[in-house]
Amino acid sequence: MSDPLPPPSNDARTVKEVHDPLIGALLGDRFIIERRLGAGGMGVVYLGRQLSVDRPVAIKLLPAQLSGDTELVRRFMREAKVVSALSHPNTVTLHDFGQMPTGALYLVMELVTGETLEAHLQRVGRLPVARALTIAGQLLDALEEAHGRGIIHRDIKPANIMLSPRAGQPDFVKLLDFGLARNDEDSTGDTTRTGAVMGTPAYMSPEQGRGHRCDARTDLYSLGVVLFEMVTGERPFSGPSNLALLLKHFSEPAPRLVDRRPDLVGQPGLEHIVARALAKEREERFASAGEMRAALDAVAESATAPRPPPVVPAPPAGPTHVAATADTMPDLSRPAVSKPAVPAPAVSEPPATSPELSAPRFSRPPEEAAAAVDAAPAGDAPRGRSPALMLGLLAVGAVAIWLVWPGARPPAEPAAPVNSAPTAAP
Ligand code: ADP
Ligand code: MG
Repeated sequence: MSDPLPPPSNDARTVKEVHDPLIGALLGDRFIIERRLGAGGMGVVYLGRQLSVDRPVAIKLLPAQLSGDTELVRRFMREAKVVSALSHPNTVTLHDFGQMPTGALYLVMELVTGETLEAHLQRVGRLPVARALTIAGQLLDALEEAHGRGIIHRDIKPANIMLSPRAGQPDFVKLLDFGLARNDEDSTGDTTRTGAVMGTPAYMSPEQGRGHRCDARTDLYSLGVVLFEMVTGERPFSGPSNLALLLKHFSEPAPRLVDRRPDLVGQPGLEHIVARALAKEREERFASAGEMRAALDAVAESATAPRPPPVVPAPPAGPTHVAATADTMPDLSRPAVSKPAVPAPAVSEPPATSPELSAPRFSRPPEEAAAAVDAAPAGDAPRGRSPALMLGLLAVGAVAIWLVWPGARPPAEPAAPVNSAPTAAP
């Protein structure tokens, strides 16, 4: 395979590389474990190889010493069942599931190259809005399929999202880790036997934090947290403990994007989407992943749509230096462009050729779209002079004479004060 193999995950919880007796182990004579890729809350993920076709795979393993933990075993088996029921290009694919003679359970998945969104954000801080929208859109597509099958992920967070560059698309998204996923019918009061709430507090909706029933809107809340984090580089809430964090999710109003990124003041659509996703009451959130996706698309399209070209009057013949007018002044309300002005790119492009790449509904590569979001539109070049324009210029000249020559107009009235209070009647 030409794809570079991923480096070990820099997930904070990755266990230090120690001698691991599982390296070199065979799984059912079909897969071999080669090296450790990462670790999460439930198991260790290895780089492996499928021997029959000599392709790299990812192997998630629940070690034998944990196979006595019935709750973990149940979750692991549920993950296998859930992922095998899903077949979206933005959801990791399951190849196999089994048990080693030692009792260890394993899931064999497609190997996703690239890095987790968590590692990426640690590296770059925050993302341009267009990239964040592209990533969120693909996640919503994956969730739409899962929710349509009655599956709630319940652990949407950057460590469970991988960005995998492919075929010219830098941010092809894969959603991982359905270890906490539940069928929406059996997700009532979901706590462990010890009463612990399941999930990741920094991303957890109020209902999930309270151990109440989760539904599709629970995932949309967590995605709202991820979108907030992608755009601002910070999570909306932080706290010294998990409890403090949960309490903020329960009752503290979510900050606005512009509080963290004042330059986003011109993005009310995006602000509205994040605020709606982070509503405390799920009835106030988007009703479905599809609805949220449509709102994101509308924001992305309005950010990249070419604006109608301004009407620029031709300079009058004669003097070569003319005073700037409102039309010829640069638009100072938008960021300055350092590049030479180019015509605004067309919004729609031919569909992607690969069926996987056609899944993201944004019609152009994210980097290009990012540039379009940040760039001011180019103005039109002055055109040839029309007879109507010449008449207009003559009229402007006549008004100028009228203003300059006192004999041409009646004496000026004193100007009324703009904000004066009405005078009381005597
Ligand atoms: P856990 O349930 O223990 O959190 P995850 O499924 O989230 O396990 O995997 C932990 C880490 O392993 C991920 O954050 C990622 O770095 C890596 N990983 C998981 N699945 C894959 C995969 N299919 N391809 C590449 N890396 C993966
Ligand atoms: Mg995980």
